[in-house]
Amino acid sequence: MTEQDLREKMVSLALSMFQRGYATGGAGNLSLKLPDGNFLATPTGASFGRLVADELSVVDINGTLISGKRASKEVAFHLEIYRNSPDCNAIVHLHSTYLTALSCLETLDPDNAIRPFTPYYVMRVGQLPVIPYLRPGEPRIAEELGKLAPHHRAFLLANHGPVITGSDIEDAVDNAEELEETAKLMFILNNHPVRYLTHAEVDDLKGRGK
Ligand SMILES: [Zn+2]
Repeated sequence: MTEQDLREKMVSLALSMFQRGYATGGAGNLSLKLPDGNFLATPTGASFGRLVADELSVVDINGTLISGKRASKEVAFHLEIYRNSPDCNAIVHLHSTYLTALSCLETLDPDNAIRPFTPYYVMRVGQLPVIPYLRPGEPRIAEELGKLAPHHRAFLLANHGPVITGSDIEDAVDNAEELEETAKLMFILNNHPVRYLTHAEVDDLKGRGK
């Protein structure tokens, strides 16, 4: 894909997410690795519903702006994930309703905020570690994500929202949607006795792809 194709893909996927309620206002950000090694990212405060392909931010691995509008300050934690996870080529960060609600719960398992109950969650995301609450923009968010990045595909920032990676931008968006739907199911199932997947069932799914 050319850089122009990737720009248009980011705009159309963001619009699709906006129209289906995964992003509201100027919250959330997207990034992807460009063929030249720089990164394409959503500008600061930009609504997913009104992105313009030619205005997207291009930054280098240090976060220096190469072209376009100023990138979101949250792109700093995207870059730290890219540094630590060579297989990651795209990142989605949302303040989506159900995952953000989940991120505000008091009794989350820090190693895995969603105990598996569907195979799709296991195959697409696997595990959802929690980063303790930090003020948005604090450099420690990037540090904590960087430490977990080599071992995980998605992360939950406490009292904030999810960060999801992918092999390309479509994969990252699909993973984000699967994760949001899983969180929604979790709330729907609240107070119902759930048959969780057993350890053997989870192990049987690992490495099976999507
Ligand atoms: Zn955020």
